[in-house]
Parts: sequence; C-alpha cells; structure tokens
Amino acid sequence: MIKAKRSQTDRAIERQKEAENRRLNTFSTEYFPAYVVWEITLACDQHCTHCGSRAIDPRQFEITLADALLIVAQLKEMKAREVVLIGGEAYLHPDFLEIIKALDQAGMTVVMTTGGYGIDQRLAEQMSEAGLKRCSVSIDGIDNTHDLMRAKKGSFQQAVKALGYLRHAGIDISVNSNFNRFNERDLEALYFLCLEQKVKTWQIQLTSPLGRAADRSDMLFQPFDLLDFVPRVARLKERGFSEGLLIMPGNNLGFFGPEEGLLRSQRPHHYDHFQGCQAGKYVLGIESDGAVKGCPSLQPVYISGNLKQSPLKTQWDQSPILGFARTRTVDDLSGYCKKCVFAEVCLGGCSFTAHAFFGKTGNQPYCHYRAIQMKKEGLRERVIPIQSADGLPFDHALFEIITEDFSAPLDRDEVGPWLLKIVSLEQRQKTHLIQIEDETKADNKSLK
Ligand code: SF4
Ligand code: SF4
Repeated sequence: MIKAKRSQTDRAIERQKEAENRRLNTFSTEYFPAYVVWEITLACDQHCTHCGSRAIDPRQFEITLADALLIVAQLKEMKAREVVLIGGEAYLHPDFLEIIKALDQAGMTVVMTTGGYGIDQRLAEQMSEAGLKRCSVSIDGIDNTHDLMRAKKGSFQQAVKALGYLRHAGIDISVNSNFNRFNERDLEALYFLCLEQKVKTWQIQLTSPLGRAADRSDMLFQPFDLLDFVPRVARLKERGFSEGLLIMPGNNLGFFGPEEGLLRSQRPHHYDHFQGCQAGKYVLGIESDGAVKGCPSLQPVYISGNLKQSPLKTQWDQSPILGFARTRTVDDLSGYCKKCVFAEVCLGGCSFTAHAFFGKTGNQPYCHYRAIQMKKEGLRERVIPIQSADGLPFDHALFEIITEDFSAPLDRDEVGPWLLKIVSLEQRQKTHLIQIEDETKADNKSLK
C-alpha cells in the first residue's frame, strides 16, 4: 500500500523521467532491446474478435518461473529499459506476480497491457506491490460495441472498473483502443471516457488483418477511410493537450499526412515523425513458449529462435531475421511505397501490418499520405481478400490492392454486410453478434 500512496506530484515527476528515458537515439546503429513486449501466457478470459494471437488457451510448453527468471537475467544483461507484459491475459500465468517482481528488482520499468476482465481491487494492489508501474487497459468502444469486439457481455463494465482499481492501487493507467469500421463511431465517445476516468495516455491503433481479425475482412478499414479517421484523431489529440489527455498513435496509424508532427509528438508544437520500423532495433517480442521476434505483432516467419535453446544475445547479434529492419533499404520496398517521397525515412511503415496484407513487408496500404495523394489524382485503393488465414496465432490472410476511381460505387458484396455508414450501427452489431456466436459455438465456448 506504500506505493498506492505516491502523491500526484511524485507520479508526475516519475512520468516525466520515464518519458525522457524512453526517448531513444533512433539514428544510432548501436541497437539494443530497450522496449520489450513479453507475452507470458496465451491463456485468456475473453475471446476477442480481432485478437492477433487468437488467444484463449495457453501455448504448449509455456515458460515456467525458472525459465522466466533466466529471461529476466538476459534482459537485464541486454540493458532492456521497459518490459510490457501481455497475454492472452498476463495475470493468468501462475507466476505473474513473481515475474513482475523479478523484472522490477532487475531495474526495468514493468508495464502491462490487459483487457482488465479479471482485475479486482486485491489483484491491482498485489500488482502494485510487486512493482508494476503502468497498466494499459484495452477498451474498443462504449458498452455494447466493446462487448461485441471482446465477445463477452459485461466486458466494458469490467474494463472501466479495472481502470478504477488500478488507479486506486497507485498504478498509472492508460487506455489502448483498436479501431476499424465496426467501432470507429465510438472514437469521440472514448475520448470523453478517458477524460472521465482521468486516463493520462490513450493509444490508438488500427485493426490489422492478423489472427482473428484476418477472418473478418469486412470489419477492417479500407485505406481511403483514413481520409476521415486520421483527421478526427488529430482533432482529439490537439484538444487532449489542453485537457490533460495525451493521445499517441500506434505504429500502424499514420504516416506522413499533414498531421504527422501533431500525432507523433508528446508535446504541442513539436514535429516528431515516424522513424521507420524499430523491430529488432530497439523493440523485442517474446512469446509465452520462449520464441523471439523483433516485434510482438510480427508473424511466425519472423521468429529467430527460442530462449529455451538459444541465448537472447546470440539471437540479437546474429539472426538476420531478428534484425531484418536494420538492413532494410528503399530497394526492399514495393508498390506505392517504393516511389514515395518519404520512402527513405519511412521504409514502408509498420512491418507487421504490411505483412498481414501481402505476406511481405515494404508496401503499406494503411497510409494517410498515400490515401491523400491518391485522392488528389481522383483515385482510391481498396484491399480485397484473396486467400484466408490458417487459424493460428499471428497468422494472416492475403489481400490484393485494387486502384479505382475515387467516386466509383462501392460493391456491396466486397464491402461487406456492415457497408460503412449506410447500414445502421445496430444492424452492424447484430450481424457481428451472429458471426461471433457461430464461432464461439464452434469452439464449444458460449457467449457469456
Ligand atoms: S506510402 Fe509507404 S513509404 Fe510513403 S509514407 Fe506511406 S507508408 Fe511510408
Ligand atoms: S512491426 Fe510495426 S509495431 Fe512492430 S516495431 Fe515495426 S513499426 Fe512498430
């Protein structure tokens, strides 16, 4: 409870110091895993419709506490600064609190991302005691919208309660949201929820066709939807500066549109911008069976090895697949990205998102700059699925890009049953609910 009593001023000073520590010299070539996202179990208490890892049951041969302690020692040796625990639901790992403690004692900032469904006041206090500094709760819409995305009735209420429990336990709270055609209407309402809940940071990302979201291409934004969505985020970001809410885009939201500086900066009137994919440069992902990737959201083909067999340092220093982003050049890009004026800096945007569409990096359809340029030429791009996903964690479907006249009528079949804003939200939610129920029945799981 001592930690729960940190004063507002102490927390503000800590936050500022942390923000400064997190700034990395991304021009350096001395790469190290500063920012680690560690999935400690794939067990989950929800069955989210857009989950990239298709979490529900633990992986075979998940790490034990003994494995975890060896990993903590290696992260310390590699000078990791911040470790984000994820799942599934990280708190479902039997040694969850011990892992937090070990990371904290090794000097790393311990953070967690959660759906919050199973967090009560007692668990929040245990997490705080163990050394958890920040916790980001995933909230994807208001009430029914969130419950449908999470395929669990009551999930929204639980997530909001979790924010309160965590805040009361002295843990800094943030919210992260995944946006797509199904929930984009709730963007502004979520902003007000964050303010009401005294959330300091809100991360906004786009749903990519990864894992379960790859089975629902109708749900995804089309590239031209960014023409509307990104400026809406930018307006909220500007407002948030004066109302105490910092909105940060996930790495797959952008890139290089007129709002780039505003979106990527942590302070008003700063001009940060996307610096290219940092996977395997300063970012590291670890899966719950010990598999290692340059970024937690990357597909299985990017696994460089397993920590139970091969030390992290060996993989970090020697694996070309782990370090693929270190050597990438404009020659590795394709499609529109290859000829883009920002290509040398951007290098095709977020790698896992590009791979989720085309099975390779270097061509990024979710790009605001690109959608604007297309529109200037009277064109738009549309992605359509041509091959389905296998049904495994972090798998992907395959899509192709159709470039068409900007005002061409949208084909109802290709756009899908929610048909943008033409179909009412209620109708979209009903369709979505039927799809979820079918899938959960097939999995012998009932929608509770
Ligand atoms: S078109 Fe590609 S390279 Fe250019 S800004 Fe967009 S994502 Fe980056
Ligand atoms: S793949 Fe995307 S999210 Fe991962 S490090 Fe690269 S840009 Fe960031």
